[in-house]
Amino acid sequence: MALRHALSVCGAAAVTERVLSFEQALGEVLRYAAGMTAPRVLERVALIEADGRVLAATVRAERDQPPFDRSTRDGYAVRAADVGGSLIVVGSVKAGEMWRGKPLGQGEAIEIMTGAPLPAGADAVVMVEHTVVASGVLTVEAGRTLRAGENVVARGAEARAGDSLLPVGHVMGAAEIAVAASCGCAELEVFARPKVAIVATGDELVEVPASSAPNQVSESRPGAPTVLSDGEIYNSNSYALAALVRGEGGLAGRLAIARDTREDLWERVAQGSMWDLLLLSGGVSMGKHDLVEEMLAEFDAEFFFTGAMIQPGRPVVFGRLPKRGGTAHPKDGPWSGEWTYFFGLPGNPVSTQVCFHLFVAPLLRALAGWSLVAPEFVEARLAEDVRGGAKVTRFLPAEMVSAWDGVTVRVVGWQGSGDVAANARGNCYCVLPAGVEAFAKGETVRVLLR
Ligand code: AMP
Ligand code: MG
Repeated sequence: MALRHALSVCGAAAVTERVLSFEQALGEVLRYAAGMTAPRVLERVALIEADGRVLAATVRAERDQPPFDRSTRDGYAVRAADVGGSLIVVGSVKAGEMWRGKPLGQGEAIEIMTGAPLPAGADAVVMVEHTVVASGVLTVEAGRTLRAGENVVARGAEARAGDSLLPVGHVMGAAEIAVAASCGCAELEVFARPKVAIVATGDELVEVPASSAPNQVSESRPGAPTVLSDGEIYNSNSYALAALVRGEGGLAGRLAIARDTREDLWERVAQGSMWDLLLLSGGVSMGKHDLVEEMLAEFDAEFFFTGAMIQPGRPVVFGRLPKRGGTAHPKDGPWSGEWTYFFGLPGNPVSTQVCFHLFVAPLLRALAGWSLVAPEFVEARLAEDVRGGAKVTRFLPAEMVSAWDGVTVRVVGWQGSGDVAANARGNCYCVLPAGVEAFAKGETVRVLLR
């Protein structure tokens, strides 16, 4: 079947070139991301499993928070106006219990612990550090006054019963899990993760062996001899992409490597067109064996751009394929009304990863239902001079150091966009705009976080 279809397309299906500036390309991705409807498939997950998941329903306060006027200090509940004279200590209340005695009267104090409900009649808490108690008589440090409400959070000040605390599209992390737990949510309704097909292309690629001894060489443990022939390399992109996809809340599926043949690519695009998102690496440059775009066109792909003025990553391709429904062949079935978005990522590993952070992550976040999707940039001061003069926006592997006195960034030495080791020595990408001749030490630049 594959062969019949593939051979029937001999010769190039035309793809119109559309190379955009970085800003335009990102704008295109964000436009499609903004138009994405929320995922329809929902799941229920246990609260403890909710880290990284995206809320499909609002989490609301189940009651006022705090549910009572809460002391924020260990000390004495008093009437603020009484501070100045001596007070009689008439009892004690701790977190978890209510004061059951009479409302606090004039000239009285009740010992209180952090988190305990303020007894009726009291309007403030004086910190234990500011008091002396002798024979049941409390004296507050000379000259110290107290405002009503001091060291107390009033009932409902944090949230009223029914208030929205976490909206739909919010990504759960530890802080959000604490909120959900504080509302007594044992389970949460979240969006199903988008399914992302990953296809590495290239005749030179070899799959990392399914099982091999650790090759973390040390003095006592020499490295295993390589099993690769000259000219061959391991497929590292599929692994990097799988990790990146997972980090953005997607489910990654690594499909078999596609050789640089129409038959193989045709098969893999056919498979990938059934997923929510298809990521191809390699085969999008100008080389004789770069057939990815042509094969996507065979599946009636719509191309939004076929290149961006960035380095690394210029040949990046973005578009979508009509999802075919029914039991028919993926190429010939009726259109289901849905799309499979795709990116053709340049094969050089640093290009692949930079393009992921810039373009794939926002789209994937939108597919996952995130309300905020844009790539994350911060500003930092250059630790060293950097040469400029490029005609494209550059994203150079760099090391960012966040210290108390500011954030600095240093571009790491590298041998170009195939240098996976240099990329791993960095922790971000330093953004150098096109057309600027030089960047001086101390100058503020943008940094793409990863
Ligand atoms: P291409 O984009 O196919 O022209 O590939 C550009 C460069 O990236 C070549 O040096 C490839 O060997 C390398 N490359 C392509 N795919 C991968 C991959 N999956 N893993 C590691 N390197 C790759
Ligand atoms: Mg290739």
